[in-house]
Amino acid sequence: MVMALHEARQYTKTENDAVQCSLCNHRCKINEGGHGICGVRHNEKGTLYAMTYGKISSEAVDPIEKKPLFHYLPGTLSYSLGSVGCNFHCQHCQNWHISRTTLERAHLHNLAPKEGVSRAIESGSASISWTYNEPTIWHEYALDMGTLAHRQGLGTIYVTNGYITKEALRELAPMLGAFRVDLKAFTDDFYKKICGARLQPVLDSCVLARELGMHVETVTLVIPGLNDSMEEQSALIRWVIEHLGPATPMHFSAFHPDYKMTDRDATPVATLEKIYKKAKELGLRFPYLGNVYNHEYENTYCPKCNATLIERKGFSSRIVRLDGQQCTNCGEKIEIVRHVS
Ligand code: SF4
Repeated sequence: MVMALHEARQYTKTENDAVQCSLCNHRCKINEGGHGICGVRHNEKGTLYAMTYGKISSEAVDPIEKKPLFHYLPGTLSYSLGSVGCNFHCQHCQNWHISRTTLERAHLHNLAPKEGVSRAIESGSASISWTYNEPTIWHEYALDMGTLAHRQGLGTIYVTNGYITKEALRELAPMLGAFRVDLKAFTDDFYKKICGARLQPVLDSCVLARELGMHVETVTLVIPGLNDSMEEQSALIRWVIEHLGPATPMHFSAFHPDYKMTDRDATPVATLEKIYKKAKELGLRFPYLGNVYNHEYENTYCPKCNATLIERKGFSSRIVRLDGQQCTNCGEKIEIVRHVS
């Protein structure tokens, strides 16, 4: 199946056939014949095209815990799709083979939005995730598929760097259920040097996603020597508690050398455990560790009585003391999405 060129949303035409894209906070000005920073939005004769619409590089049925997403439809499968390109240029990218490739080099297949929804349902998945590469730059496709999926009662998930603009995020709000966002560090310096972006727009989109009613869950990859100081991690946790609420699940994951960042070791588990304990001390209800196989801090504990509510091993999970949103041991209300509304 050959798909026609798909005109982009979220852009304005300027003079001399140039355009300005307002999908992410780079807000690229693109001259005729050019691409944006993400490499997948192309200006042809004054019209901006979404070049990866319907183009799939990766397709899988994953446990939702793999995203990682622990408080949204736990224990279910998520039909997961990725394409190519990224609006960040992270030196430690773990999916660089798809984020840094081009449309010409990649092995892609076509998938219409309606067909994607059918496959999700046939696979027994409770949701669709746009993941593997940055979904912000796949806006039109995710919007079309997500709108259909939402009507069919499926959950809808962005695994994102959070660099989407407010106007684009508002456009997704009627269909998007979960915003699984990376908080890569808590300094603008890190975002500039390591990712080629800025911190504040990411924080702003987290706040807006919550205001728009999405479930927000954060992931921070803790990198030795770059963002692992207790001062920085404490400041990040305090910000989340104050602006997103103490019930926001935060994942602190171990770094492993990858792509262009091979000059340092993996994160010691002891560093992650220290951050977990600090998060608890500061009042965060649900901190988690990631990339540490079989660790007790992957489980969900009741913040009131400390009973184990969900046990996790790798990507498998078992709900043990949770009835709907209630701890069956002490009755505490647990902030967790069990069904799509
Ligand atoms: S999505 Fe972002 S990086 Fe891509 S063209 Fe638009 S503003 Fe530029």
